[in-house]
Amino acid sequence: MRALCWHGKHDVRVEEVPDPQILNPRDAIVRITTTAICGSDLHLYDGYIPTLEVGDILGHEFMGEVVETGKAVTNLKKGDRVVVPFTISCGTCFFCARQMSSLCDNSNPSAKKNEALNGYATAGLFGYSHLYGGYAGGQAEFVRVPFADVGPLKVPQGLPDEKVLFLSDILPTGYMAAENCNIQPGDTVAVWGCGPVGQFAIRSALMLGAERVLAIDSVPERLNLAQEAGAETINEEGDGDAFEEIRDRTGGMGPDACIDAVGMEAHGTTMDARYDKVKQSLKLTMDRSHVLRQAIHVCRKGGTVSVPGVYAGMIDKFPFGTAFAKGLTFKMGQTHVHKYMRPLLEKIAEGKIDPSVVISHRLSLEEGPEGYDTFLKKQDGCTKIVLKP
Ligand SMILES: [Zn+2]
Ligand SMILES: [Zn+2]
Repeated sequence: MRALCWHGKHDVRVEEVPDPQILNPRDAIVRITTTAICGSDLHLYDGYIPTLEVGDILGHEFMGEVVETGKAVTNLKKGDRVVVPFTISCGTCFFCARQMSSLCDNSNPSAKKNEALNGYATAGLFGYSHLYGGYAGGQAEFVRVPFADVGPLKVPQGLPDEKVLFLSDILPTGYMAAENCNIQPGDTVAVWGCGPVGQFAIRSALMLGAERVLAIDSVPERLNLAQEAGAETINEEGDGDAFEEIRDRTGGMGPDACIDAVGMEAHGTTMDARYDKVKQSLKLTMDRSHVLRQAIHVCRKGGTVSVPGVYAGMIDKFPFGTAFAKGLTFKMGQTHVHKYMRPLLEKIAEGKIDPSVVISHRLSLEEGPEGYDTFLKKQDGCTKIVLKP
């Protein structure tokens, strides 16, 4: 089959690789009909996630048609149309039983590496390095789906791929980020990063009852999308220091909750941001956390900082004293996708949210490498790329 493989920093290639096989009774093989490039794939493309190996197949947002099932998979059959969560989860361990599927104890076969870093290993992920199990991803013609009896969600024929594909990651991720803000009537939520996860965080915050959402970014296309959703926008470059701007727009009090939908590769022109960039380029730190610092600084006292953006290591100059002084609550982590897929599918079917609004580019799998480059450089009005094998 054809698959998009990682070869190093800014080097991905579509190559001929062996077809996936059923390895365990709970596996299924899915023929991919639509897949996408995620903002977090750019961390792999930029070479910031350790333990990738040359030839690893990328991609964790995908859907398609079941073509083969293992003996223990009784809920799916050949021909079923499914969307697959990016987190791989067993469905029965301590964490899965408590709906914390991204913390599954049984799905990461290279748990030792992850344990060495984090103390305890977290769930395996599709196409996201050997820290997360080294599973082949879905930017390919076919993929092996482990624990297929608990992960994949069957989707009704009436809904096109583009409306349901993002149930695999970014829609639940944006939703969980907003849910983590514990939104109360009258609340103002500030969202940094108006990429796809930010867009869904904005829409979810409004769905969950936020009175105002402030959206912060510097890319005009993204700010337009945020505005269309009902957010008030702040152009980080145009409007000067976002701190002053946000403080002034919230009556001097600060937002009730702040969402960092940017993560470890934050840009910025302030002193701390430039320092991070130099350190990260020298591999002295793994994260550039400018946005997180700003969120902590501007959040109202007693507020919540919610972090759906990916972080991978130690954070430099983390203003813990400020967080302590202000009594902030932090919520974060990989998304518990399994928990959110079904209720969000209902919202899509009811027309309450249309995730396809973020798609700007539709390419073939063969055009994937150009897609990564375009997405990285945010060229050509690029907000989200889907690939069709
Ligand atoms: Zn993703
Ligand atoms: Zn589990």
